[in-house]
Amino acid sequence: MPAQWEEVLRDGDLIEYLQEIAKDTAFLHGVLMRTKETPNSPEVASYVPLTLFPTRVPSVVFTQALRVQTHFNRLVDLVSQNASFLEESLASTIKVDDFTARLFNLYKQIQQEGRAQPIVLGLNRSDYMLDQSPDGGTSLKQIEINTIAVGGAGHAILTPDVHRHILKVANLLEERNLILDNNPAEGFAKGLVKAWELYGSESAVVMFLVEDLQRNIYDQRFVENELWKKNIPVIRRRFGDVCRTGYLDQSRRLFVQGKEISIVYFRNGYMPQNYTSEQSWDARLMMERSLAVKCPDISTHLAGTKKVQQELARAGVLERFFPDEPETVAQIRATFSGLYTLDMGEEGDKTVAMALANPDQYVLKPQREGGGNNIYGQEICEVLEKVKNSSERTAYILMDKIQPVQVKNYLIRPGGSVTLNDCVWELGVYGAYVRNGENMVFNESVGHLMRTKSSEHADGGLSAGITALDNPLLF
Ligand code: ADP
Ligand code: MG
Repeated sequence: MPAQWEEVLRDGDLIEYLQEIAKDTAFLHGVLMRTKETPNSPEVASYVPLTLFPTRVPSVVFTQALRVQTHFNRLVDLVSQNASFLEESLASTIKVDDFTARLFNLYKQIQQEGRAQPIVLGLNRSDYMLDQSPDGGTSLKQIEINTIAVGGAGHAILTPDVHRHILKVANLLEERNLILDNNPAEGFAKGLVKAWELYGSESAVVMFLVEDLQRNIYDQRFVENELWKKNIPVIRRRFGDVCRTGYLDQSRRLFVQGKEISIVYFRNGYMPQNYTSEQSWDARLMMERSLAVKCPDISTHLAGTKKVQQELARAGVLERFFPDEPETVAQIRATFSGLYTLDMGEEGDKTVAMALANPDQYVLKPQREGGGNNIYGQEICEVLEKVKNSSERTAYILMDKIQPVQVKNYLIRPGGSVTLNDCVWELGVYGAYVRNGENMVFNESVGHLMRTKSSEHADGGLSAGITALDNPLLF
């Protein structure tokens, strides 16, 4: 870190002033979220937690993450089309994990019936941390790839200008000029537009399937408004709306409240709590069976499970998906860290023993999304001691714990005190693709999301106030 920046970090009065600037600028630029107390009120908002300063990221690492994204897009898409791989990978998990089992049953039903719609739209985000080995070497390691309800694509547009302004006021002008532009919402919209055009009906609308609680509405509005700019109408509906008014016509076109739906864009449906009744599951099934393009479809949703991630890391598996592309395989594999099965049998027994012997070196992960579900440290032993001799253990996978490089920063969050923290960062890269039958007609890496948290927290979460929005400063 340059000396002048170090000085700023330790100048208490200036920091005091800058944090006020940061909050005001976040409001001015619309880095906003509704509050926990009034998630559905358009009258009240707060700023999204953000770092006071951007974070230095080696440019080789950043480039690597961006470059591998189109390969990950293809990998997710190939996995989603490989029924035997999905079935074998998830066989043990669905015996014990009810949520994954329900998703899988839905998938099987669609498989048997045959898909109505050959167009596939994927909007995902692959997340990474920079792992530091004991000898000081660093390497980019994937945390996971998210294939459903990926957030942050709107907020990511706004944070560059916030940090630019803070750095200008702090007189860190060289750093200011290094902040990158970023527009993943526009990239996501490109995918949506392409799929909408291929669907081929002028009057059909894009439906955002949203949660009952709409805290993160502003982030989604950026994607939505990109579509309105292109004169593509968008409606926001909940599971309840689809249950009450949705139906399929004879050619399996989906109608909700009288409107034909060209694309169902899932910003909901990724965790068990989203399905508040049997009707929600019926609605999901109806949408999956329909002619509407699903983002994601049920098979792409399953391709994003942690169990699939673990199976993909097995020796020889990537080669099966890219038989003639050793360079693609090498680029993807370079980002994998150790992932271990807990399936019943010798291999799973070994995983259990390894985790119990050194719990601090691993993360135990169930098949859940949305933050706050992973298990760390001593708690790994408590959980594994309970399930280690039963098939219940196959609900989880084990992963090497990444030891990220620590950096100093201030985290600005509503109601929180502002102190200089040891922080770790996580870089997400957005991917968008569209396949029409056999042909990939669009495949791009469309932007990034930097998030930083205090290193005392193992897990993340923006709305939980743990993670803060950030920007990479390449060096
Ligand atoms: P979720 O689907 O809930 O987002 P993730 O796998 O992304 O689950 O994990 C949530 C958070 O936990 C990550 O953002 C990261 O901060 C932390 N985390 C996950 N896996 C690891 C790991 N292998 N090493 C270190 N931290 C991890
Ligand atoms: Mg995650």
